[in-house]
Amino acid sequence: MNIPNPETPTPQALLRLADQCVKCGYCLPACPTYAKTRHEAESPRGRIALIQGWLSDRLSPTPQFMAHLDRCLLCRACEAACPSRVAYGQIMQGARAQRLTSLPLGRRWWQGFWLSLLANARWLQAAARLSQVQDWLATRLNLGNPQGRSFPAPGTLLSPATGPKQPLPPETTAGLPVDPPDGQGRTLPALLRRLIAPYRLFTQLAQTVHPVAPQSPESADLDLFVGCTGASLQGRALAAALTVCKRLGLQARIPAESPCCGAIYRHQGLIAAADRARTRCAALYTGRPLIGVASACIAELRADPRLAHAQEICAYLDRLPWPETLTLAPLPSRVLVHEPCSHRHLLGGNAAVWRLLGRIPDIQLLQLPAETHCCGAAGTYLLEQPAMAHALLEDLIAHLRPLRPAIIVTTNPGCALHLLAGVGESGLNIEVCHPIELIARQLSGQSQRNGLP
Ligand code: SF4
Ligand code: SF4
Repeated sequence: MNIPNPETPTPQALLRLADQCVKCGYCLPACPTYAKTRHEAESPRGRIALIQGWLSDRLSPTPQFMAHLDRCLLCRACEAACPSRVAYGQIMQGARAQRLTSLPLGRRWWQGFWLSLLANARWLQAAARLSQVQDWLATRLNLGNPQGRSFPAPGTLLSPATGPKQPLPPETTAGLPVDPPDGQGRTLPALLRRLIAPYRLFTQLAQTVHPVAPQSPESADLDLFVGCTGASLQGRALAAALTVCKRLGLQARIPAESPCCGAIYRHQGLIAAADRARTRCAALYTGRPLIGVASACIAELRADPRLAHAQEICAYLDRLPWPETLTLAPLPSRVLVHEPCSHRHLLGGNAAVWRLLGRIPDIQLLQLPAETHCCGAAGTYLLEQPAMAHALLEDLIAHLRPLRPAIIVTTNPGCALHLLAGVGESGLNIEVCHPIELIARQLSGQSQRNGLP
């Protein structure tokens, strides 16, 4: 049953965007899934060609076809690399929205329901607490980590199809770090394997819940954005943000309601739900600077002209004048500055994080090699594509291991969780936190020594 969705871009509009792609291939080296598989259909160029074939009715949208689209992280690294400025993110989000309109009502309902649970702050906090039960169960069932490492297979180049409607060529993903497409892999071991990613996520959640109470000072200087996952995944970062703001003489407001920014819906093609979420935010956050600790949420908010005043906290604090008396205690540690894709490709980079942390005396800031790709978290990707998410995480851990950091800082909660899981599985003793937590910690140290309030 097809239900028209007025917010979904038309196939013609998507084809016009996709036709901007000249198939030059400059984007291929930037793409994490292509780097991992060397499979053309796992590249930006290949995915655009698939979408063109599908929307012009020349390719059938088989489950394996759709799996190539699902495995896109929407990290937007290809967009940054594209000399023709192809709007890849819009194309992929629109293609996912088109696909949703063609799903049976039950499947569409389930997709919306599952995402609404993930975007619900109260449910997430309850799930985090339940994770302790999951932890106990997993130990009893001896689930361990069954995701073995697999190796890339030689790629095949797919061109846009011509002539009558064609099926895709025989699939060549055997041996790739991919999960089976929908409808396959429904055996008990496969289903148990698919539970591992939520299990790992919720276990991490249980360690990070740190509720931040709503507060409404009469004359607040700024709004602190919490969003749907903030209280569960970034409670410590939010508490640190409050501490730093207070030391800078700023009062923050945290409304009792903490609506989702909408990014989680937009990634999956639920464009109307994403727009509704942003509209709710626009109604709630007016008249003050809107500051957030999650780079992906801020990027999503800033894309709406009504919320263009949203700022990532490090960028905001970096622009403020700091009183000379407010100094930071030395931190003689190796600190790796991880840059989430949302920060790099949608917010223009994390130079402000480097400048802010550079205020800490004796700190040794490290960066990952330029060829490092997305960590694999990517919103719900780590839940829905655990094999590829895990393979990408392993690569990132291999890059960071020789740098021997004591601390990793990152501005996105999904990346923080995923990195924390990877560090733990690799037996590394590395703390993962938000940069604002380091700033708050070093302020506290100074305050103890100098007797500041
Ligand atoms: S998306 Fe851009 S870089 Fe990639 S093949 Fe198309 S035109 Fe070239
Ligand atoms: S958004 Fe990321 S994963 Fe998707 S095609 Fe572009 S570079 Fe590859």
